[in-house]
Amino acid sequence: MKKTVLHIGLDDIDSPEGGCTTHLASILVEELSKEALEFIDYPNLIRLNPNIPWKTRGNGAVALRILVNENSVDRVINKVLHVVEKYIGEFSKEKSQPSAVFLTGNIPSKLRWFSRKTVKDIVPINLAFKVVDKVKAKAISFNGKRGVIGALAAIGEPLDNTDYTFELIAYRVEENYGKPRLIVKESVLKMDKLFGTQTFLNVDYEIGKVLITPHGPDPVLLGIRGENAEIVLEAFKKIKVLEPIERWVIFRTNQATDMHLAEVKYVKEIKPYMSVILKGYVYEKPKTIRGGHVVFSISDSLGDTISCIAYEPTGSFRNIVKQLIPGDLVKVYGGTRPPSPTHGLTINLEKLEILRLAEHIAYRNPKCPKCGKTMKSAGKNKGFKCPNCGFKSKTISKICIKIPRKLRPGLYTPPPRAFRHLMKPLQRYGKEKKTPPKNIIPKWHHP
Ligand SMILES: [Zn+2]
Repeated sequence: MKKTVLHIGLDDIDSPEGGCTTHLASILVEELSKEALEFIDYPNLIRLNPNIPWKTRGNGAVALRILVNENSVDRVINKVLHVVEKYIGEFSKEKSQPSAVFLTGNIPSKLRWFSRKTVKDIVPINLAFKVVDKVKAKAISFNGKRGVIGALAAIGEPLDNTDYTFELIAYRVEENYGKPRLIVKESVLKMDKLFGTQTFLNVDYEIGKVLITPHGPDPVLLGIRGENAEIVLEAFKKIKVLEPIERWVIFRTNQATDMHLAEVKYVKEIKPYMSVILKGYVYEKPKTIRGGHVVFSISDSLGDTISCIAYEPTGSFRNIVKQLIPGDLVKVYGGTRPPSPTHGLTINLEKLEILRLAEHIAYRNPKCPKCGKTMKSAGKNKGFKCPNCGFKSKTISKICIKIPRKLRPGLYTPPPRAFRHLMKPLQRYGKEKKTPPKNIIPKWHHP
């Protein structure tokens, strides 16, 4: 019997209050495991452009990839649709626009291009449908067509020539939705000690907060992010959980890879909602505005400037930003928000790389040549006078002094609690992968 690869993409199953696309995927994995088919990869969790205004929380879409007999494709698709329909009947909220997309065979380059664009930029719905037609995919929407963008994009990013990480997500039983998550904090700290180099974003030590548990009413109990599937499973076993676990699944994902960032050379290339890396000189020195956010601007080599902002939740990261002075050469990383009546196009800082520090020169009043005390201005263009001995001079001028910089060149990020899914933590630098895993661990999901 001839076999074919069937890709199943899912998105927008959740509402802003929930995070259920991955939960539905975990149920589908279980249902499909009962069939005569083979998973050729872990479920892929693909995070899309985090800056788009209408995103569902986290903006993640899922792709399942299976090897199936050619004559069973339609039956499997019908089974998937049946499970999806049942699920959205039970859980989905009005605002979501759930979609499922199906594609058989290899992934065309046009679709790969579309996926990368969806991660980095803003994609109109009609472009998604053009690609669906072109690659002969099948798109099914339930409540509106928006989810097709993410479902299609997930299929088109098989993480085969790019960096990736893993996340083990465990789910709660339904009667516990909305209740506090019963995880023993000490066990998380212990796990982080044991696996902290191979897992990431477990704990924010700046404020002593556990980060593996979300806080919403959604079905996710916890998520452990790490470099490989074996490690996230081992780390998971160390967590003491005092409530029933419905099921867990290990996803392979583009999280923590910086896939959303596109390097641009000039300010004029930047459009709203893009995520960019831009090199430039600090132009206006940082100032703290209402709400505790810190704003400065940089200029590119053409002299065009753009504002950059470090929001209050980035905590101690702002203390680094505040030390910048005009003339510092930096690289800024972050998503852009459109101009408004109160501000221009602005980069929301996710990361700051300090490449070269400018000299910090300050001008001070001169010392009195007679008695050595610091002189005072005698008025505009009137020189200086000494408050101690009364000595006056019109020829004496301010002295220039070099103030030592406390800042050091290097890459700086916000504390872990301010990280969004796609942002690459410092500890991942040097661990980037280029080829997919050689095999799938025998037990990567649990009903
Ligand atoms: Zn004097």
